[in-house]
Amino acid sequence: MIDYQNILDTIALSCSSATAKGKIANYIPELSKVDSSKFGIHLVDSTMNNFSAGDADELFSIQSISKVFSLTHAMSLIGEDVWKRVDVEPSGDPFNHLSLLEFENGIPRNPLINAGAIVIADILVSNLKNPKADFLNFVRLLSNDNSINYNGDVAKSEKETGFRNFAAANLLKSYGNLKNDVEVVLDFYFHQCSIEMSCVQLTKAFYIFMNKGVCQRGKTHLTIRQEKRINALMLTCGFYDEAGEFAFEVGLPGKSGVGGGIVALLPGKYCVATWSPGLNPKGNSKLGMEALEKLTTATQQSIF
Ligand code: GLU
Repeated sequence: MIDYQNILDTIALSCSSATAKGKIANYIPELSKVDSSKFGIHLVDSTMNNFSAGDADELFSIQSISKVFSLTHAMSLIGEDVWKRVDVEPSGDPFNHLSLLEFENGIPRNPLINAGAIVIADILVSNLKNPKADFLNFVRLLSNDNSINYNGDVAKSEKETGFRNFAAANLLKSYGNLKNDVEVVLDFYFHQCSIEMSCVQLTKAFYIFMNKGVCQRGKTHLTIRQEKRINALMLTCGFYDEAGEFAFEVGLPGKSGVGGGIVALLPGKYCVATWSPGLNPKGNSKLGMEALEKLTTATQQSIF
């Protein structure tokens, strides 16, 4: 039996005493207010045993981690049609680059970069009756937690400074790959990114990706094929232009966000979330990545 609690305690101790913690994202002004010394980690195994260390219960801005939820929601609504409007290849570029989008005629490389997530947001705006309320309910359902909410200040802050996302949305519109108004789609997108969750809540929500599409309450949200596809996308595209490095060092499918969160999972075994707000130069949580490398090394468990 692996002693997960002991491993997490050791990781939390070494991360909390680390001096090089990375740099907090400040291009969304509201995010720069976060305390850089925070560190949390939480793991839930396949039989729902929970293990925590550090600030695992504290809420933070999930940012791009929300792209996995929006993709899941879109796939559950329109199935394979998603792939008519977004590709499934790693970009090898930062999350907000626009050059590939123009080069590839408005079809984003994958749904986990910003342009791809904006197309997915457009799909949700078209297919949901009350897009923001319905999407929030979907995340609450996956997490089995009705306390989860948007942070209006973060959404507003990003709207005021999200020039590259406006550029991406306008480019998509010019290629006919955005059906709704740019303003409406981005309002939805900025809200989805502003959702606040803790490491504990994130592992609950991501449980379906390690459990063949079935959530903790036993409800099926995805087919096994869809679950496979989302995990494949997380592995190849979940860490900006550092997906190769994450697979190399950690060896798990997962997704990061500029709020400093990372969620990763080992199918059939466990789901783990970390939070440390300082980012490395590629935009991934510096200590979060190091913590997960330590976890897969100590447990000798990865997908490889
Ligand atoms: N809302 C952020 C943006 O669009 C998400 C970035 C991220 O977490 O990767 O810039």
